[in-house]
Amino acid sequence: MKKIMILALIAVAFGMLSADISVLIRGESKASILKETTINSIRYVELNDFSTVFKAINRQDRCDGRIYLHLYDEQFIFLEASPYYSYKTESYNMHYALLRRGTKLYLPSLFVTEKLRTHFPKDVELKARVLSIAKPRDNSITTIVLDPGHGGKDPGAVGRKLKATEKELNLGVCLKLKTLLEKELGMKVLLTRSDDRFVSLQDRTKFANEKKADLFVSLHTNSSKSPAGKGLETYYLSTAQTSEARAVEAMENDVVERFEGGTTAKRKYDDLDFILSDLNQTENLESSNLLASNVQQNIVAGTKTLDRGVKQANFYVLRGAFMPSILVEMGFISNEEEEQLLVNEEYQNRLARTIFEGIKRFKFRYDRIRNT
Ligand SMILES: [Zn+2]
Repeated sequence: MKKIMILALIAVAFGMLSADISVLIRGESKASILKETTINSIRYVELNDFSTVFKAINRQDRCDGRIYLHLYDEQFIFLEASPYYSYKTESYNMHYALLRRGTKLYLPSLFVTEKLRTHFPKDVELKARVLSIAKPRDNSITTIVLDPGHGGKDPGAVGRKLKATEKELNLGVCLKLKTLLEKELGMKVLLTRSDDRFVSLQDRTKFANEKKADLFVSLHTNSSKSPAGKGLETYYLSTAQTSEARAVEAMENDVVERFEGGTTAKRKYDDLDFILSDLNQTENLESSNLLASNVQQNIVAGTKTLDRGVKQANFYVLRGAFMPSILVEMGFISNEEEEQLLVNEEYQNRLARTIFEGIKRFKFRYDRIRNT
């Protein structure tokens, strides 16, 4: 007996003791075991193990050492080597620092057994040393907001030869894309407008955020002063990188000054909690870029249109969206040849089909990552 106690004391002294946390998802019969590791006498769980059991998503930003954790539709931000984390704009102290050991990140067990219960009193309970938790959300991409650019009093760009309006083409392709996403992927598809009406840029992303959309896809048609300008490009949000991208950005953002109340409205967008939206966007940049690449590659391959590539720009319409978001410029309405194609029903079908294939590819890849 004495011997065992001594051994136990030695084990504690060397930090070798570890107990594990049992987690039972309500409605399931078998508990999962969240393995604990003792580091410097403190109990930790590996962050990836935690995410697997809780179906949470974690992402590291190697630049600023931030670690984002998404759980039950909420976001936690941790800092490497710090005991502090933020949740719903408040800062909390979990007493022990989040640690890195090689490529692995370790979260103090205390966060799991104590802190989570205070943040989610209804979803997380401790019963007889077993953590009973509400069924975590299925993280698959299910809801998409399609945004046909312009509308109503704002026609967008107008064709050189046929005088086709951008707002009409954008809506045409969006409606076709909607049918494909619903029929073939069973997705929930919402449109920022489904007829010829004016919707402000802010209301478009606000709508996507309110509906808790997983993706935001804005469709536009390009225009240039030169009738020779042609091709297809896909944007995701960031500050514009090239002067050409800046020109497209200025054109699409112009609606704010022309139709939404001039410079006062523009200032409102600039002040629009920019830091906050910027912060939320950083973690979506990588996936927005991937979505943009998948869509661009598929349209170019399927339409044989000139590939102008994936670009970054600071579109107002993408700025406020808290989900992977892209803006596709489907061709130049100012180019006679492309305008002819864009008004063609068959060509619109092909555009919708190829954008659909790009989204599908992204979804399959993303769902796998988010649910394993
Ligand atoms: Zn446009």
